[in-house]
Amino acid sequence: MAKVRTVLGDIEASDLGLTYSHEHLWANPPASQKDRDLELTDYEASVSELWKFKRAGGNTLVDATTLDYGRDAKQLVRMAKETSVNVVMTTGFNKHIYFPKWVQTLEIEEITQKLVRDVTIGMDGTTAKAGFLKSGSWNQLIHPLEEKVTRAVARAQLKTGAPIWLHTEAGTMGNEMLNILEEEGVDLTKVAVGHSDRNADPYYHLSLAKRGAYVQFDGTSKIKYYPDSVRVDLIKNMIDHGYVEQLLISADMGRKCYLKAYGGGPGFEYIIQKFIPRLLDEGISQKDIDTIFIKNPARWLGQF
Ligand SMILES: [Zn+2]
Repeated sequence: MAKVRTVLGDIEASDLGLTYSHEHLWANPPASQKDRDLELTDYEASVSELWKFKRAGGNTLVDATTLDYGRDAKQLVRMAKETSVNVVMTTGFNKHIYFPKWVQTLEIEEITQKLVRDVTIGMDGTTAKAGFLKSGSWNQLIHPLEEKVTRAVARAQLKTGAPIWLHTEAGTMGNEMLNILEEEGVDLTKVAVGHSDRNADPYYHLSLAKRGAYVQFDGTSKIKYYPDSVRVDLIKNMIDHGYVEQLLISADMGRKCYLKAYGGGPGFEYIIQKFIPRLLDEGISQKDIDTIFIKNPARWLGQF
């Protein structure tokens, strides 16, 4: 049976329920990041946002904060225990501007072993294990250190079976990142290409899906980029071309200004209370909604 690796242990993939596949409960980016709106380090605020998600009908939340972005397994274990929401964490890297110095000095195999440790033994000195691996690229290019850690992520995938999620800057370089994983022998059906809706190009999305990867749209509600009407069209494009089973949707609310409990909005309730009803109203079926928010995350994460 396929299992999903949560911070409180492995659970049956069929028990995942309604899942947000890319969010942030805790993040403390390095000091080089001057925009501190990205810092989410208030336990009571974060756990209260997680309660809002649960009360709205959410069951599982995927936290995408990496080891170079101020991940803290202890805090997420505490939140998962307090709320009984399934929390899935990651190991790996965001983008080169955040990398610790050891990314430069260690060999790929040594980085691989750190990732394997996080998936099989535990993260940040706890017994909470990572449920997926993460790597990322830059805007319109892959920095050499990003290629290096992507190869380490690929090798850790082959050793552990853990699924992969890719950060793409402004929705660029998805295919080029898949090329690196493919060269290393990774089965692309275990890979999700994140931030793909930042590049609102339906042809690009189909090009990723044709290779077997999951395509993630995680900018839901972010009108600063464009209105959700564009996302509805992009979702319909994937469904109309037969790729509903490779679509993941979340909102990546990794800023104080997006979260009600930190004084912002629209918060974790938005997708369940506003966006899903809109999708139904615009003609997307309940069956497709269940595929996108329940079945696809369970299939992508259920690799253990
Ligand atoms: Zn994110």
